[in-house]
Amino acid sequence: MNISNFFSQYSTEAECRRFFKSRKEQAGIVCSTCGSLVHYWIEKESRWKCQYCGKSMSLKSGTVMEHSNLGYKVWLWGLYFMSLTKKGFSALEMQRLLNHSRYESIWLMMQKIRIMMGQRDEKYDLDGFIEMDEGFFEGHRKKDEEGLITKPAKELDRQVKAIVAVSTTPIVISKHKKGRPVTKPGYLKISIVESLCKTDIAYEAEKMLAKTADVTTDGKTSYRVLKGLCKNHRAIVVADKKEVSKIFPWVHTAISNAKKKILGLHHSVKNIYMQNYLNEFCYKFNRRYFGIKLFDRLILAALEKSCYGPIPKSE
Ligand SMILES: [Zn+2]
Repeated sequence: MNISNFFSQYSTEAECRRFFKSRKEQAGIVCSTCGSLVHYWIEKESRWKCQYCGKSMSLKSGTVMEHSNLGYKVWLWGLYFMSLTKKGFSALEMQRLLNHSRYESIWLMMQKIRIMMGQRDEKYDLDGFIEMDEGFFEGHRKKDEEGLITKPAKELDRQVKAIVAVSTTPIVISKHKKGRPVTKPGYLKISIVESLCKTDIAYEAEKMLAKTADVTTDGKTSYRVLKGLCKNHRAIVVADKKEVSKIFPWVHTAISNAKKKILGLHHSVKNIYMQNYLNEFCYKFNRRYFGIKLFDRLILAALEKSCYGPIPKSE
């Protein structure tokens, strides 16, 4: 839906509430007590009631909006803006766009949407040829009393470690240009890890990869654990660091673009929220050809019965 149509159709709270109601009814309402699909709507309370057992369900329950005091218009416009650009918005920009008085509420709404994006992507495994490597993302830098950024004791102290995997497909030879990668990227996953030991790698790989995946990594010994977790694991020992980006072109492009986006837009992200920002990056990367359909997909995810906790407390 283009911008002018969107804002002319959903300019009031009532129109936005009607939108969510109709989309939720299209998706189907199931009673959590008796499993019935037959409900009736109580307009005054914005609730459905189960025709068989009488259990009532609010429009927000079981959606990303559950437990939120923000209005339907803020949520619908917020979801629309989150789907509008590849780059995204900072919470401050979003607060201005929505003309909302509280920064914290908008920040929290955006974190919930990012968590939801991550949960959506968790439903899919990466399969086929996979490039896997570790990435280091720059976390929050403390400021001293004068507002100057203080250097951490060690450079690595503020870096967040992550396992990054991209599925790839070979390019038809006639289209291949010299010096360019011989594959094109498919889907991307980035997961923050405590450490890069084999236990953490095995845990993330099991969540990310299909059993039939064919994975290429560098020669680090902790990646040997992948052997039992996927169809094939190929370790390439890279002697010259400059060659790494040629051997793993897409995983390194993804890491570099994610870093640029997070640093450029959000400047400084606390380590505990880094996964949420990476979720948004991966979600949009994985749906980069969706165009304006991205909004519909985001609405589907927002209204799906999911677990949205634990939600971070507002800063
Ligand atoms: Zn029921």
